[in-house]
Amino acid sequence: MKKVLVVDDVPDNIELLRFDLEDDDFEVITASSGQECLKLAPLACPAIILLDIQMPGIDGIATLTRLKSNDITADIPVIMVSAEKGDDAIIQSLDLGAHDYVRKPIEYSILAARMRSALKLVEAKHHLEHANKELERLATLDFLTNTHNRRSFFNLAEGEFARFKRHHRDLSVIMLDADRFKSINDDYGHAAGDRALQALANTCRSLCRETDILSRLGGEEFALCCPETPLEGAAILAERIREACENAVIETDSGSLRFTVSIGITAATESDDDFAQVLNRADMLLYQAKHSGRNRTIASLQQPSSQGANALKNEI
Ligand SMILES: [Mg+2]
Repeated sequence: MKKVLVVDDVPDNIELLRFDLEDDDFEVITASSGQECLKLAPLACPAIILLDIQMPGIDGIATLTRLKSNDITADIPVIMVSAEKGDDAIIQSLDLGAHDYVRKPIEYSILAARMRSALKLVEAKHHLEHANKELERLATLDFLTNTHNRRSFFNLAEGEFARFKRHHRDLSVIMLDADRFKSINDDYGHAAGDRALQALANTCRSLCRETDILSRLGGEEFALCCPETPLEGAAILAERIREACENAVIETDSGSLRFTVSIGITAATESDDDFAQVLNRADMLLYQAKHSGRNRTIASLQQPSSQGANALKNEI
């Protein structure tokens, strides 16, 4: 049942409307002055307000102005009720954000139609806001694994890095890469490869905390940013992920698929200038793990020498 707030300084005017409104399945609440309306509206949050223009004290125009400047009531549609001959107050109300108006004596069928139109508009606006939120959510996700996409990951992780710098909180970063992924695709087909990536993402998700930020950075490469986590904690988490992946079996048309991951783990240090530097170090450690035989984790605060790391990259 939708709530309508009827504001009028003459009780008889309210009672005249109440009958028709209740007949139309509205729950009617009332205020006999602008002051009362301003007090009641934010608490009751009606779906719509019928606001008399001519009232002693705070008149309808002033009441409307205040309703529109309050975040809680700003979006409630207001239909002005005018007893004036002229149009000035109506024009002013519409300019101030009133949805519509009716003149006294009120013809209920006209009022009801205008209320329906106002409520429809509000509903359409809510749908649109919901759709926009969903679009926003989809724009931050990797469609295959439902993890953060690269852009969203950097946005969030850079925020965490700023918090690390300001408050000296622990911040660890884990880089993961599925081993010999090309041969998984070649041997089992791309659909199976996709399922392996989904399994890897699900494994990470099930083992990490809700505050950790998981992303598929591209291809078979994932990153996990772990706020409030020291290097040792991240290393334990990484080892659990490695082990879980090693033990997972994915059944495919071409037989049982098993895969392993190599993982590099590091933590932000005071000498890091930005998040990219930390991620780069984790990436270098990941390549070191690959070079050391794959299916292993390497955790360190030290960057492997870049010359050595570049040589490692060529080997993968
Ligand atoms: Mg009046």
